[in-house]
Amino acid sequence: MSTPEQEKLKWQESETVRNLLKKQNSLLGDSLEALDHLIYLQKSINLLSSEEISKVLAEKLPSILAVKYFSFFLFDKDHRKLRLLSHNHPELQEGLTLYQSESPIMKDAMESGRYIFEQDFASSRYFRGRRNPLFKYTFFVSIPLMIENEIIGVLNFNDNEKGFFNVGDLDFSLNVSEFVALSISNALLFEKVEKLSVTDGLTGLDNHQQMQSILKNEVFRCQRYDSSLSVIIMDIDHFKNVNDTYGHQKGDDILLDFASTMKKFCRSNDVAARYGGEEFVLVLPETKVEGAVYIAERIREEMASQTFQHKGKDFKVTVSCGIAEFDSKLITSPADLIKVADQALYKAKHEGRNRTIVGTP
Ligand code: GH3
Ligand code: MG
Ligand code: MG
Repeated sequence: MSTPEQEKLKWQESETVRNLLKKQNSLLGDSLEALDHLIYLQKSINLLSSEEISKVLAEKLPSILAVKYFSFFLFDKDHRKLRLLSHNHPELQEGLTLYQSESPIMKDAMESGRYIFEQDFASSRYFRGRRNPLFKYTFFVSIPLMIENEIIGVLNFNDNEKGFFNVGDLDFSLNVSEFVALSISNALLFEKVEKLSVTDGLTGLDNHQQMQSILKNEVFRCQRYDSSLSVIIMDIDHFKNVNDTYGHQKGDDILLDFASTMKKFCRSNDVAARYGGEEFVLVLPETKVEGAVYIAERIREEMASQTFQHKGKDFKVTVSCGIAEFDSKLITSPADLIKVADQALYKAKHEGRNRTIVGTP
């Protein structure tokens, strides 16, 4: 038989164990819930485009992390600039870009490759004497998003309901950041490869294949909706001479110059492509032949008005243009349309170059 003293001790002991178990259970419950959130978020952002990922983050991250404000910046390594991709902050303007140095917090996070966390912004070394009245509690966290030691962006969190950010919250945000970094970098890589496969390496214009697929869609649209469509084929005159006289590098410079002249006269729906070597195509949706002539002539005149230089010697470069307008009765395929423009170009060359000729189907 145990004494009442012993009974009491036993009871106290089991009470302590019960409390410990309870606590452990609740911690386990919390981390299971956190895990659930992680899996849910991971599923929502896996295999999306970078734009879609950032949209999902703005919708879900604040509630999952129980923070009030969130912003997500992508780092453009070439220009050393941070671009705001998504946020839920009432004072940030869409598409904001910053130099790293304009945000000492993000700069520190990026340079150290570690999160920056301050429970109280006003007493941190980042405080510049202005409290933001939006923030009830002034903790902030900046987490650099890294893939293999390379910074791809930064996630920022501020403020919440409970008034502080604890170790568990921080731990959880770090976990989240890790797979956000992974998903975003996969999406960016995919987008880059996708872009490379449709872009001409020298000029950055669409390549031949991309132009063909756009033209196919546009011709289909014309057949279906009876809308207008024109194409211009442009070819640099005596370009072989340019290469032979001034060198291949100078030739490349001229191709680049011509591509930017084309872009300058393109409207938002027009598509400029490098058709091959020194031949270029402009696809002009919703454009009748008069509109196409106007654009071709602007480009041709702009080229003819420029003076190029090589080793102190001035020289001129001209282009010839052939135009075709889609006509549903006479043209049945993209190849037909290109053929009409090509024949017009041939005629322009034949008649002395540096001119624009409209083809007849
Ligand atoms: P035409 O007025 O009849 O068009 O004469 P052309 O000399 O321009 O025509 P041709 O087709 O004989 O020559 C095209 C030249 O374009 C030959 C080729 O070396 C050059 N070329 C093609 N691609 C490139 C390129 O990427 N860079 C440079 N520099 N030259 C290129
Ligand atoms: Mg040529
Ligand atoms: Mg040619």
